[in-house]
Amino acid sequence: MAKANIENCRWCLANGLAGAEPAASNRTQYLMLKLTTPNPSAMVIPVRYVETPFEFNSDEWADLGEMLTEAKRRLDQFQPDGFTIGWNVGATGGQHIFHAYMHVVCRSEKDPKAGQGIRDFLR
Ligand SMILES: [Zn+2]
Repeated sequence: MAKANIENCRWCLANGLAGAEPAASNRTQYLMLKLTTPNPSAMVIPVRYVETPFEFNSDEWADLGEMLTEAKRRLDQFQPDGFTIGWNVGATGGQHIFHAYMHVVCRSEKDPKAGQGIRDFLR
């Protein structure tokens, strides 16, 4: 399995590779927004270099909730009919950057994949 390392990791903010400043942050998590249609989305990413959410500590889990609420607040401007939220874990699970990142994706009734959940939508 291909793995990034901490020196060239896109989501380690110290590397300056994230492509934009975080839209928000707290003690242990930060928020990136991708406000492009048809599925505007956000990502909640731990500041600490951890590959998967299975490695989160209790502070990271607590702070995740706050950033998830902030993600929804920012995405509500698109008046989504629903959301798909989750992590891809491991190359086999569709993870491309090996620093955990949770997707928060707006869903619309007009979406061709409306009604298809996380197991089908992200394919
Ligand atoms: Zn990283």
